[in-house]
Amino acid sequence: MPKRILLTGGAGYIGSHTYVALVEAGHEVVILDNFVNAHRSVGGRLERITGKPVTLVEGDIRNAVTLATLFAEHAFDAVVHFAALKAVGESMARPLDYFDVNVGGLTTLLRAMEAAGCRRIVFSSSATVYGVPDEAPTPETAEFRAMNPYGQTKILGEQMLDWLGQSNPDWAIGILRYFNPAGAHGSALIGEDPRDIPNNLMPFVAKVALGELERISVFGDDYDTPDGTGVRDYIHVEDLARGHVLSLDRLFESGDSHCVNLGTGRGYSVLEVIAAYKRACNRDLPHTIAERRAGDVPVYVASAEKAEEILGFRTEKGLDEMCASSWKWVSNTGAHE
Ligand code: NAD
Ligand code: UDP
Repeated sequence: MPKRILLTGGAGYIGSHTYVALVEAGHEVVILDNFVNAHRSVGGRLERITGKPVTLVEGDIRNAVTLATLFAEHAFDAVVHFAALKAVGESMARPLDYFDVNVGGLTTLLRAMEAAGCRRIVFSSSATVYGVPDEAPTPETAEFRAMNPYGQTKILGEQMLDWLGQSNPDWAIGILRYFNPAGAHGSALIGEDPRDIPNNLMPFVAKVALGELERISVFGDDYDTPDGTGVRDYIHVEDLARGHVLSLDRLFESGDSHCVNLGTGRGYSVLEVIAAYKRACNRDLPHTIAERRAGDVPVYVASAEKAEEILGFRTEKGLDEMCASSWKWVSNTGAHE
C-alpha cells in the first residue's frame, strides 16, 4: 500500500538514494532539507531518475512552525529521518551545534509528529554508537559507548525514541545502525559530494583518482588485522536505501519497533579498498603509510543476522560495485553543481 512519507535530509547522500527507493516502491514522498550539506540541484536530478516531479521543501527540522504546516498539508503516515550533522571532528569542535540539530531537531520533529498523530519513524543511527566494540562482528546487544559528541547525539536519539515508544504503544520505531555507506546511484546523477577535503576513506580515494588530491594517507598499518590496516564493513548506498523501505514495510505490517544493524557482515581493509578502487578507475592511486588516526577503531563489522531475520534484508552489491559506481559518479562532473 502506498504511504505518504516525510523524508528529512532527503537531499543529502543517503537520503537522496532512499528517496529513489521509496518512490520506486510506490510511496508519495516529501523532502524537507535546509541544504546545509546538499545542493539545490538534487531535486532536478531526482526527477530525472524517477521520471516524477519532486516535492522538495527548503526548511529546518528545528522550526516547529515549518513542521506543523507540513504535517497539516500532507497527513504523513510516517517519517524517515536523515537530517543531522555528521562530521566527527567538527562535532568535537562545535558540540552545541550537534546537540542542537541532532537532539533538539529530533525533539521538535517528534513533537510535531505527536501533535499530528503520526507515530511511525525510521531513524538514521550509526555503528558509532558502539564506540570501540568488544566483539566483531558486532551484535545489536553491544553496549553504547560514546567516543565523541556526534556519537553521543546518536545514542541520545536512540534513547529518546526508546522512552517515547515505552510511553505510548502506538509508536512504531525503526532504528537503523549504518556501518560504512559507500558508492553511488547507478545513474551517476546522485552520490556523496563532500564540500571540503573528505575525512572518510572512500571519498578521499575518489578525489585522488580524480587527481584533485595527491595521495592517500593510510592511517596505520600495525593494527591486529590481516594486513595491519583498519577494517570496515562497507555497504552500498543503494542496498542501504532498500533497507529503509523494508524497515518502513515492517513498521506498517507489524506495528512493532525494531533496532538493527545495516551492514554486509564482511569487512575490508584500507589496502583492499584502495586496490578495488584502482580496478574501478584504472588509474594509479599513490598512497603512503601514516600514523594511526586518533580515536580510530581497528575493526567495525556488522553482525547482519538480525536485519535479515526481522526485515528480510540482505545486501546485494559488493565492494567492486561500490567503487565502480563511486567512480562513475565522481567522474560525471556535470552532475555536481
Ligand atoms: P548528508 O549530510 O549528506 O545528509 C544530511 C542532510 O540533512 C543534508 O542534506 C543536510 O542539508 C540536511 N540537514 C542537516 N541539518 C538539517 C536541518 N537542521 N534541517 C533540515 N535539513 C538538515 O549525510 P548522510 O551521509 O546522507 O547521512 C544521513 C544520516 O545518516 C545522518 O543522520 C547521519 O548521521 C547518518 N549516518 C551517516 C553515515 C555516513 O557514513 N554517511 C553513517 C552512519 C549514519
Ligand atoms: N582511513 C585512511 N585514510 C583516510 C581516511 C580513512 O586510512 O584518509 C582509514 C581509517 O583509519 C579507517 C578506514 O579508513 O580504518 C575507514 O575510515 P572512515 O573515516 O571512512 O570511516 P570510519 O572510521 O568513520 O568508520
